[in-house]
Amino acid sequence: MAEGDPSYTMTPDEFRRWGHEAVEWVARYMEQVEDLPVRSPVAPGGVQAAMPPHPPVEPEPWDRILADLDRVVLPGITHWQSPNFFGYFQANASGPSIIGELVAAGLGVQGMLWSTSPAGTEVETVVLDWLAELLELPECFRSSGPGGGVIQDGASGATLCALLAARERAGGVEALDRLVAYTSQEAHSSVEKGARVAGLRSAQLHLVEADRATRAMRVDQLAAAMAADATAGRTPFFVCATVGSTSSHAIDDVDAIGRACGDHGAWLHVDAAHAGAAAVCPELRPIVNGGLERADSYCVDPHKWLFTNLECDAFYVADRRHLVAALSVMPEYLRNPASSSGAVIDYRDWHLPLGRRFRALKLWFVLRHYGAEGLRHHVAAHVEWARELASWIDDDPRFTRIEPTPLNLVCFRPAAGGEEAAQRLLDDVNASGRAFLTHTRIDGHLVLRASIGQTATERRHVEALWRLLSDLTPDA
Ligand SMILES: *Cc1c(COP(=O)(O)O)cnc(C)c1O
Repeated sequence: MAEGDPSYTMTPDEFRRWGHEAVEWVARYMEQVEDLPVRSPVAPGGVQAAMPPHPPVEPEPWDRILADLDRVVLPGITHWQSPNFFGYFQANASGPSIIGELVAAGLGVQGMLWSTSPAGTEVETVVLDWLAELLELPECFRSSGPGGGVIQDGASGATLCALLAARERAGGVEALDRLVAYTSQEAHSSVEKGARVAGLRSAQLHLVEADRATRAMRVDQLAAAMAADATAGRTPFFVCATVGSTSSHAIDDVDAIGRACGDHGAWLHVDAAHAGAAAVCPELRPIVNGGLERADSYCVDPHKWLFTNLECDAFYVADRRHLVAALSVMPEYLRNPASSSGAVIDYRDWHLPLGRRFRALKLWFVLRHYGAEGLRHHVAAHVEWARELASWIDDDPRFTRIEPTPLNLVCFRPAAGGEEAAQRLLDDVNASGRAFLTHTRIDGHLVLRASIGQTATERRHVEALWRLLSDLTPDA
């Protein structure tokens, strides 16, 4: 650049100024989000129409850029951070986590190898060991032994990596044709997607029937299917058990499934994406941690119910050898003495991408800001309010609750009026803007789901949801 040439780079001082403005904007958003209609009202193309069709040629002033957050973006936001958001499973953000994201962006490290930023790797290792301790996961998942944890983008990525590690242990791609994987009919769709990506034909993923009452995987059916496959010369190599299914929070019998896996040497992955967070509370651990010592891998999403922004899935393996063998490729340009020494972890070998952000920072900040005490306080409160909502529903003849309600997800439908009444209630709640619910289908019935676990949700918001449901439902 010749002297006198302009620089378009934002100076630290300009960053300070506009960064402060942006933080102010987010803080104001936090203050106001409760009063905004939860679901975005825009029609398809509505956001696009508010943007110019061509990119800017001249640099734009920052006051205009930030103003467009209000004009262009906000109308197209469904407010996941609203305390009145009860849809899907929540995606928790929180102050400490947002600050962690900001600092990670500021450092801007590429943590693919230990040597590309030792702190990127070592903070992650320690924080995942801390999380394993907070959740009281089996020792095998700590980094002190052959296992350990890594942050993945999500549970879907974790399940795919578990499949690839299991495939490796069962003989790799060469053995692919013989392999059979199993999961429950109620398992998350990411298992099917992962199986497809791992190269399995649809017939190589056996969807095991779920129990009519609990919707947990029928272990007798699993064992029978595995035995039949083995007799026919196929290799049962992978089972995904679910702790807290997406539809209804069904909890598989991980211990019994683990024993069935043991009979065939199959890899047991436990998907506890949402419900696993409940284990921060000692009194809830028996519900979600049973049988985990039989698991080869485990995942839980702090980005759902532990106040940590997307993307943050904690994925643990009992023995990292198969995972690393499945995913490690060492080109010359990445060779370095630390990796060659074998004394360090290179997390690039534990997931699909090469490049990785410093995602552990936000989790570190969250664990330190809340402490075990704070996490327990909030998660226990969510479960308590869900049980209260469940009891209000039970006491009102206009509603039918779908049992069981083990944690913070309440499934229910209007007692009368069938499909149409359920759909109308869902539409009316969401059109009101005062709360947001989503649905599922259980035993052929359309069912409404209320997941209680948003960072800012208080008991009064759950009460308001109940009043809204009650007001919108005709007398029986
Ligand atoms: C949410 C969820 C998933 C998918 O999680 P992502 O982190 O979005 O990939 C998978 N399994 C279960 C049980 C879930 O609740």
